Amino acid sequence: MSRIAYVNGLYQPVSEARVSIEDRGYQFGDGVYEVCEVLDGDIIDLTRHLDRLERSLAALEIPMPMSRGALTAVFREIGRRNGLTNGSLYLQVTRGVAPRDHYFPARPVRPAIVVVAKRSDQARIAAQAEAGIAAITQPDNRWERVDIKTIGLLPNVLAKEAARRAGAREAFLVDRDGFITEGGSSNVWIVHGHTLITRPASPGILKGITRAGVVDAATALGLAVEERAFTVADALGADEVFVTSATNTVMPVVRLDGNTIGNGLPGPQTRLLRGEFHHHSERTPIY
Ligand code: PMP
Repeated sequence: MSRIAYVNGLYQPVSEARVSIEDRGYQFGDGVYEVCEVLDGDIIDLTRHLDRLERSLAALEIPMPMSRGALTAVFREIGRRNGLTNGSLYLQVTRGVAPRDHYFPARPVRPAIVVVAKRSDQARIAAQAEAGIAAITQPDNRWERVDIKTIGLLPNVLAKEAARRAGAREAFLVDRDGFITEGGSSNVWIVHGHTLITRPASPGILKGITRAGVVDAATALGLAVEERAFTVADALGADEVFVTSATNTVMPVVRLDGNTIGNGLPGPQTRLLRGEFHHHSERTPIY
């Protein structure tokens, strides 16, 4: 089955889909995105993703390209046309197409929209979750509004590539004061006993949808959640460390900069949360 993308109103094979070289996303990174998990044919936590999309777009003064209902219909249609059961849906909205000029286009242009589906290798993710992943630390040298989910991800790309070259899967970004902000593509959590600790939501982190889901799950399970900043030393001394993202949900981290965390195996709270997470999420069927 050829992969099908939705591009500005058309459903097209990915190999034929085109966007303009004057798309402001291409030239300036002037756009936002969302990634939604798809599990067993259901879109996970779609309402929260659409809420965050609206917040990101509003922050950049880009209008919603279509209603939430129409966007949901496109998501489901792309899911169906790609036969997607497990994986993710990627949505990108840019300010639109205009001759290159830093100022917003003088005459309003229509936002450009792309939706694609991606299948995930469930067995590979399960194996990673079973063993736990390694992470390294990298300086957080991003701008101060990373709560806006923009497509400008160069610092994240460089940090994650450094992680890959070091034999790790995630980069923990560290601010000037030695506190971990978040991962290159995830939120970071540490665990002490039955208490989960994660950095408070602020313009300095992306407020992850999976992060919100873990708060829901933890509350239902009677685990305490503390929102406070923590250092690299705090992470190294924690009982457990994990990261959250829509594509990997709850993923244990067992090594940081070559040091073993806890006993080097995924911890009990991390495993519990990974197992329970989807019992607390909203599900929107594709089929
Ligand atoms: N922080 C960053 C920088 C990310 O790229 C992501 C994944 N998109 C997250 C956090 C986790 O967010 P979510 O749970 O919504 O996927």
